[in-house]
Amino acid sequence: MPLAILAANPQRKILFANAAAEKLFGYSREELSGVVINELVPALQLNACGADSVHADLPLAGREWDRHRDLVAKRGDGTEFPAEVTINPVSWENEACTLTIVIDRTERYELLRNRQQLAHLTRVSTLGELAGSLAHELNQPLTAILSNAQAAQRFLATEPVDLAEVREILHDLVEDNHRASEVIRKIRALVQKGELEAVPLSVASVIRDVALLVHSDAIVRGIRVRVAVTPELPPVHGDKVQLQQVVLNLLLNAFDALESCSALNREVAIEVTPEGGDRIRVAVRDGGTGLAGNTFDKLFLPFFTSKRDGLGLGLSISRSIVEMHGGRIWAQNNEDRGATFYFTLPTGARAERSFLRGQP
Ligand code: ADP
Repeated sequence: MPLAILAANPQRKILFANAAAEKLFGYSREELSGVVINELVPALQLNACGADSVHADLPLAGREWDRHRDLVAKRGDGTEFPAEVTINPVSWENEACTLTIVIDRTERYELLRNRQQLAHLTRVSTLGELAGSLAHELNQPLTAILSNAQAAQRFLATEPVDLAEVREILHDLVEDNHRASEVIRKIRALVQKGELEAVPLSVASVIRDVALLVHSDAIVRGIRVRVAVTPELPPVHGDKVQLQQVVLNLLLNAFDALESCSALNREVAIEVTPEGGDRIRVAVRDGGTGLAGNTFDKLFLPFFTSKRDGLGLGLSISRSIVEMHGGRIWAQNNEDRGATFYFTLPTGARAERSFLRGQP
């Protein structure tokens, strides 16, 4: 068997280990014999999930296997590796024993890490594209702060001081300062190289954050962005920065698609609606060029681009992010003009279950 298998008695002592287990853990079969399984996978002890303790009171036929995905296992030389462990109850010489299957998840984690790094790199490059308009977005409140402060100086130099006016100016200063720091906070969050973090999230707030970042870019390009969110939607479960990245990619693609359109059609509509009771659907609709018939199956592949300076990574990264959240992403041409990109995300208990498992 290519999988590492350990048979253990009810006291979790190893009775038998196969060749793959010897290789994976770096012990000989003799060395493994009699070792308590928890020494190889310490976390099993912590959550007391050894099949013998969990299922001890059930008759053999009623027992089920027990799967633990994100555990750390220890090799003979002390190094650790991420492991998926399945514990199956079996009867061995009339004793309720367990067969433990250990799968080395190092490659999967590396893949996940690589994807995260790639996602981070493309986020930074996307923000680079927005740099000009973001500078403008920051410049506006800064300019307002300067002129308001100068006005306050003038008011304070005249007698009697108009306190009501000064109070109002100070209020505006605080508002503009908030506006600038809000933009900076959003930029920082996107360029940070954080660990994946799954929390309950409002999709509407994810979209609002991104809309703030592209606000100036949209103005410069003469594009109106409309957002319509069904009220009181349940939260999704996921990583805020990564979901922002998906919305940012879709929005900037929609902006690009509108490049050659007349001013009248320069509009992007984002709609957030419930779907099927346990999902939320986001639609990003543009009135742009639309998708050429032969591109549908290539759109989400890495490096597919029709743009002169395109990387062709935005949609493929968006797809891996959405699928990692247990959702689906697809595109359609609109009946009149332009294209709509949709993605769904699970909500409620299902959302939590599907994060990182990628099961819609
Ligand atoms: P990039 O934007 O770097 O080209 P993406 O993966 O984001 O990479 O997009 C891949 C391609 O999909 C684009 O080059 C474009 O041809 C097509 N595409 C994406 N969004 C749209 C859209 N809203 N309208 C028309 N074509 C689109």
